[in-house]
Amino acid sequence: VVAPATQHTATTCCYCGVGCGVLIEHDGEKILGVQGDPEHPANFGKLCSKGSTLHLTGDLDARALYPELRLGKGLARSRSDWDSALDHAANVFAETIREHGPDSVAFYISGQLLTEDYYAFNKLARALVGTNNIDSNSRLCMSSAVVGYKRSLGADAPPCNYEDIELADCLLIAGSNMAYAHPILFRRLEAAKAARPEMKIIVVDPRRTDTCDLADLHLAILPGTDVALFHGILHILMWEGWVDHAYITAHTEGFEALKSLVREFTPTAVADICGIAQADLLRAAELIGKSPAFLSLWCMGLNQSTAGSAKNSALINLHLATGQIGKIGAGPFSLTGQPNAMGGRETGSLSNLLPGHREAGNPEHRAEVARYWGVNSLPERPGLSAVELFEAVRVGKIKALWIACTNPAQSLPDQQKIHEALATCPFVVVQEAFFTTETCHYADLLLPAASWGEKEGSVTNSERRITHVRRAVPAPAEARPDWVITCDFARRLEQLLRPGLPSLFTFLDSESLFEEYKHLTSNRDLDLSGLSYAILDNQGPQQWPFPAGAQQGTARLYEDGHFPTASGRAQFLADPYCAGKEKRDTRYPLLLNTGRLRDQWHGMSRTGTAARLFGHAEEAVLSLHPDELRRRSLQTGELVTLRSRRGELSLPVQADENVRPGQAYLPMHWGNRFLKGLGTNVLTQPAFDPLSKQPELKLSGVEVSKA
Ligand code: SF4
Repeated sequence: VVAPATQHTATTCCYCGVGCGVLIEHDGEKILGVQGDPEHPANFGKLCSKGSTLHLTGDLDARALYPELRLGKGLARSRSDWDSALDHAANVFAETIREHGPDSVAFYISGQLLTEDYYAFNKLARALVGTNNIDSNSRLCMSSAVVGYKRSLGADAPPCNYEDIELADCLLIAGSNMAYAHPILFRRLEAAKAARPEMKIIVVDPRRTDTCDLADLHLAILPGTDVALFHGILHILMWEGWVDHAYITAHTEGFEALKSLVREFTPTAVADICGIAQADLLRAAELIGKSPAFLSLWCMGLNQSTAGSAKNSALINLHLATGQIGKIGAGPFSLTGQPNAMGGRETGSLSNLLPGHREAGNPEHRAEVARYWGVNSLPERPGLSAVELFEAVRVGKIKALWIACTNPAQSLPDQQKIHEALATCPFVVVQEAFFTTETCHYADLLLPAASWGEKEGSVTNSERRITHVRRAVPAPAEARPDWVITCDFARRLEQLLRPGLPSLFTFLDSESLFEEYKHLTSNRDLDLSGLSYAILDNQGPQQWPFPAGAQQGTARLYEDGHFPTASGRAQFLADPYCAGKEKRDTRYPLLLNTGRLRDQWHGMSRTGTAARLFGHAEEAVLSLHPDELRRRSLQTGELVTLRSRRGELSLPVQADENVRPGQAYLPMHWGNRFLKGLGTNVLTQPAFDPLSKQPELKLSGVEVSKA
């Protein structure tokens, strides 16, 4: 017997927004190994601990293999077949829509989906069902950055690229443990700093993380005080004459209002609010103000906040005031959390969006998309964002819920309420590759989805770069690609909701979805109408915009100083500083921060199946400053009860000098498979930013006592 030859298929890593290229080694049936793709411009062949173990994480024992259905809440699910399962789902959805209206159903999807999957879901929800109740777990990840970019610059478009990170003279990394969350990009930054030690790096983070090892200056601000910090830096920039008045005059609006606002953010006041030394604040402003090329990077520390939109805009203000945007090595650069959160934003996968960076609330945008899709109209009623959507499920307004490729029973805040919602929702469909997730427990219908390496499509990474993702091996048993499941369901539903009309879902493959979708981006800020799978294959991954007729993508935005706002000028935003919603008090004297471990990803449905990835952190441990342990007569390793206003957990505690007194830190990854209690998010609060609707996952009042 001749062993089948090893083949290599180029795709991307399915974890973070760096979007590293991966070569899958396989024999046509099984994935045998992985290598970094030396040709991919995100990583040039390198992979981090998560990416390099991808082949060890497809554990068949944890995979959903067949459709499973139950016809009553108290019953166990039993194996079904695809036709019966999808017919049943279509009947339940159609009945619910007829009886209670289109907004009585909802879709909750994921930044892990491919662009084509997202597009199919959006067309299903908006064009066929007629609801804007479609939101994504990107709401927990990037929606504050979306609002920040749109309000300040006019479009949801990160203006920089990865090379700019290497070419900057001063980098401000705010609310991001990039060393763990975006490791390959961090390696690129480490190499750049080693080659050019004069490059200055400022890290803003309440906790001392591994990212701080590279920093010239660490500002360990008090949680939630970022807006005050950025206003304070702007105050000093203005005082010292380090602002670019020519740029402000030529390309911006609103500086006068901001100037009056930041007048009161004196170094003394800001050092006090942020809990940092005034000298450090002055140094940060000087490094930024005197830098020929200033670039900022940020992630969940700014976004996951009730002031997330204001934090984004206050940081972008610094770039506009110094003219540090639209040039080499400069600009405000949000680091995308999930691998294709960008693709989701592009295809309209937040309840307030439509494909092509359009707004669901804009009548012209709705009419454009409706015309293109060949339907009379799109729904006008606003859709619900993630937290609102699950609350509507809990109180019985949403009666049929479709969840794809995400685990809200672990990842949403205030978990007890989410579990209550899922337990009482009359019909829950979960489309998922791994049956082990907490959410699958609540599925009335479980649909097995293909996973990484088993499906084709495209993704967009943090620098607007689109890669063609390829299938290497078949999905196991009866698992199917997500878009196939969605379109098959949609065709059955349209026979019930609009019988006799031509199908809206005649897609034969992922490429036909991409081809239909791309024309909806034509003449929009993200125009990718010139792209095709063939171009991506022949020329490699490309950055949008890539309009029809373009020879290559666009490396950097706003180089001409023109912005896609009504006036063509960027907007200074004078948002006030507001303290976080939960403050320390005598019952809850610690502020809990959550974040990533180096070797785990999100809810661990994939990384939690590889023993090697537990080498760095074996179990959930709460970190407290040694003074806080002493105050409570606790020792490292002791079991404690961690309690917030919403719930409690039992877990070991450890002394950690990197966490300031008055604070606590717990990794986000642990759900009830790994922890006694519902998991980390049983503690976190559902309060959200008024504009971005992104919840506050990084600041919750807690108390710790001996278990
Ligand atoms: Fe995957 Fe992100 Fe690691 Fe790259 S940096 S290998 S995309 S987890």
